[in-house]
Amino acid sequence: NIDPLNVCALQIAAGEGARILPLASGLEDGLFEHDGQITKREIRAMTLSALAPRHGELLWDIGAGSGSIGIEWMLADPSLKTIAIEQSPERAARIARNASAFGVPHLAVIEGAAPAALAGLPQPDTIFLGGGGSEPGVIDAAIAALKQGGRLVANAVTLEMEAVLLLEHAKRGGSLTRIEISRAAPVGSMSGWRPAMPVTQWRWTK
Ligand code: SAH
Repeated sequence: NIDPLNVCALQIAAGEGARILPLASGLEDGLFEHDGQITKREIRAMTLSALAPRHGELLWDIGAGSGSIGIEWMLADPSLKTIAIEQSPERAARIARNASAFGVPHLAVIEGAAPAALAGLPQPDTIFLGGGGSEPGVIDAAIAALKQGGRLVANAVTLEMEAVLLLEHAKRGGSLTRIEISRAAPVGSMSGWRPAMPVTQWRWTK
């Protein structure tokens, strides 16, 4: 019985000095290898809370980017499983590296584009839609695949994706949340609030 967090600490210790990982979701962005396409720490914490992992569940992380959501899902409990779907080969390889570095190398990475890449995968208890949701057929395929009683959380940054979520909310219900985060940053010799792009989050139970 290996504690994934200790494995991670050990692996990082073997590298550039030991770091202790906090147990709560919303780890610092810099702990993940990423190219800028990452759900930011505060948004990630709220997203993991919305995904609400329960013992033994399987998550599909569609448009997984760096893999940060699927990795934090697995870190919440050793019984949790993730399949990360990512169309960019470069990012798919990065997800696998991040998963190993965080001590969850058994995270499954599917390199391919949704909806086609979703075909034949084990049925998920929960789906996070972080990319590709405005492309034809993606949200319908996700909803069709989800277990009855399963949860779907979708985040939109673009207007195109937001339009999809507003329609789904009108059609199926669930809840909509708009998340706006600002971080203090230098303005000349002083400081000001630098807003991140707002995120529209739709949360729905099948
Ligand atoms: N939640 C991620 C960030 C997602 S960025 C994180 O925290 O790291 C959105 C990602 O969706 C990008 O990596 C993009 O390549 C991917 N994507 C877009 N359309 C897709 C599709 N149809 N199938 C699979 N991945 C897709």
